[in-house]
Amino acid sequence: GELGPEQNGLVVAHFGTQVAVEDEDGTVLRCHVRANVQTLVTGDAVVWCRGEPTGVIVARLPRRGELCRPDPHGALKPVAANIDQIIIVFAALPQPHANLIDRYLVASAISGSEPILLLNKTDLLEEDAELARSMEALVSPYESLGYRVLRSAIGSSGMTDLESALADRISVFVGQSGVGKSSIINRLLPEAGLRVGALSEARAKGTHTTTTAQLLHMPSGGSLIDSPGIREFGLWHMSRAEVEQGFVEFKPHLGHCRFRDCTHEHEPGCAILAAAERGNISPQRLDSYRRIVASLEGA
Ligand code: GDP
Ligand code: ZN
Repeated sequence: GELGPEQNGLVVAHFGTQVAVEDEDGTVLRCHVRANVQTLVTGDAVVWCRGEPTGVIVARLPRRGELCRPDPHGALKPVAANIDQIIIVFAALPQPHANLIDRYLVASAISGSEPILLLNKTDLLEEDAELARSMEALVSPYESLGYRVLRSAIGSSGMTDLESALADRISVFVGQSGVGKSSIINRLLPEAGLRVGALSEARAKGTHTTTTAQLLHMPSGGSLIDSPGIREFGLWHMSRAEVEQGFVEFKPHLGHCRFRDCTHEHEPGCAILAAAERGNISPQRLDSYRRIVASLEGA
């Protein structure tokens, strides 16, 4: 059939071989993908043409970053693209796994997204001064490193800090099970209909239901890309150099070690060890770096 003129769009979901594309007015349409177009994931910016019954994607625009997960064969595959920020959710309960925040910070650096730490369930800290102190001790080194730390509690009147951090940007929520991601997302997307919204029409016409990530708009502004896989997104295989990139305080010292392949364990002339000795890198973070590298090498 006749195709309309080329226009820009945003991939908001995919169903088998077809994708749901949102045009600049926010209308979602089902499209098929021309054979020469690179693989698409939710969050991709595309050029497409309107058509009946489906539109056609004719090009994928360059990605600013991508979030990857291993496929069943262990190969890393992008699952979402162009994510502006990764909201790393943690809470006093369940007790945070050691290094988990550091691991997510490394993953954020690799995916090209800005990390934001979100301490949820602050209501638990109000009645327990000891717990409050331990969470502050966990959080304050990250604030000192320049990371943004937000706080939230589902029962409280507002989540305005969080909502304003999410406005005008594409975000994902990550964190261990039980920290409150679903509760937060349900609150940000209060109407069940909104979550599927315009998508349901696109889906009804298609035969496939989506199990992949969906891009959802929040009434308070900003968008989320969400799927069970993304919420549990973690650290997959990565090189030592990539892990180093996730430790911001290492940056001024990287490249200054005597040996190019320095492991920062014991080598003479190691700039990272020297910085740690001067107190410019905390023992906890150095230890965390080593544990992450060791866990990758053991994998
Ligand atoms: P998810 O696994 O990260 O998606 O976590 P859920 O959203 O399922 O929440 C896990 C549990 O924590 C549920 O029982 C929630 O009711 C509870 N929860 C979530 N947010 C808060 C909060 O701010 N304060 C308290 N006290 N409990 C919360
Ligand atoms: Zn070194």
